[in-house]
Amino acid sequence: MKYSHTRAVHAGREDFDALGVHVPPIDLSTTYPVRDLDTGTASFDALVGGAASAANPIYARLFNPTVARFERALAQLEGCSDAVAFASGMAAASACLLAARQRGSHVLAVRPLYGTHDHLLESGLMGLPVRWVEAEAIGDEVRADTALVIIETPSNPTLDLVDIAAVVKAAGKVPVLVDSTFATPVLQQPVLQGARLVMHSATKFLGGHGDVIAGVVACDAEWAVLLRQVRAATGGLLHPLAAYLLHRSLPTLALRVERAQANAITLAQRLSTHAAVAKTFFPSLGTVANAHLLGTQMLGPGTMISFDLKGGHAAAAQLMRKVKVATPAVSLGSVDTLIQHPAGLTHRVLDEATRERHSITPGLVRLSVGIEDVEDLWADLQQALSA
Ligand SMILES: *Cc1c(COP(=O)(O)O)cnc(C)c1O
Repeated sequence: MKYSHTRAVHAGREDFDALGVHVPPIDLSTTYPVRDLDTGTASFDALVGGAASAANPIYARLFNPTVARFERALAQLEGCSDAVAFASGMAAASACLLAARQRGSHVLAVRPLYGTHDHLLESGLMGLPVRWVEAEAIGDEVRADTALVIIETPSNPTLDLVDIAAVVKAAGKVPVLVDSTFATPVLQQPVLQGARLVMHSATKFLGGHGDVIAGVVACDAEWAVLLRQVRAATGGLLHPLAAYLLHRSLPTLALRVERAQANAITLAQRLSTHAAVAKTFFPSLGTVANAHLLGTQMLGPGTMISFDLKGGHAAAAQLMRKVKVATPAVSLGSVDTLIQHPAGLTHRVLDEATRERHSITPGLVRLSVGIEDVEDLWADLQQALSA
């Protein structure tokens, strides 16, 4: 499905004319009047059972119209019938695991995953033990009682691509969850490759301005019911103000991603020949696994660059101290450029051996490229690298 800029601008706004409004109304009600008890009871049953809406919203843990608007819009951008939004990316991941418990006894997951996602699976907190596998070995490892296969592509922080279609084929009947946070629906729509669940930390590109923590899972109607049941029971809700901000950011998602990507392509090329840099990880440089999926599974290389500094930890620390345009901070996908040190921050929870195995070395730095002028970004990196 070609990404539709028209849909991005208009999705979730279909009833504005009838409402007589031009921007989404924000509904902050926590409860709703129940004048007709029979309708109220039927609505309660429907929503607790995972329905997308009901005649009466009853209570905001069960339904919120502002959140539902964002969900409908995001579902359309991913080519899915439904989406379910959560208080954070990790709340979304937790809900997927809780829902998956109904269909199996363990999950298969491919490393590397986002550090806290790895930690959540490894901890067994959600009651589903994890077996870590190579993507190529999923066909051998998958069992009838495997609840879920979990992958992330592009992966964090080394931007390896995982072949979604191949994983889906190997997984057979077992649903595949793709953490597509780094790609956004602009560059990749995993359902086209057969994924059942597409997860985003909406905190990143979907929000895009560094002011919202949120998560969302785009999926089919069957999974949406399961996820809404879990959300109604566990309460990992997205606040309506956050949903409003996310919905407002969707029309500019492609503009932000495309502009940041153009900057990233230039910066990655220059970094790859910089004297202080040992290796630059960026899909279109061919320095990541499965770079051949560029142009098919993933339409462009994205906006994230990781690079390994010859000077190791000390050089990485200096870079974070000296940048002036970029902000030294975790997170990603904002309009402004962020730079961080995976071994010291985001991937701290992995043990050292696992970090080394996945190229998360003391000199590795991850850059989330923003939409500033590329020459200002390059000048900033140059002065910080040579300081
Ligand atoms: C940030 C992130 C998460 C976690 O999302 P939160 O919104 O921080 O809970 C999960 N996966 C990826 C790839 C991320 O970047």
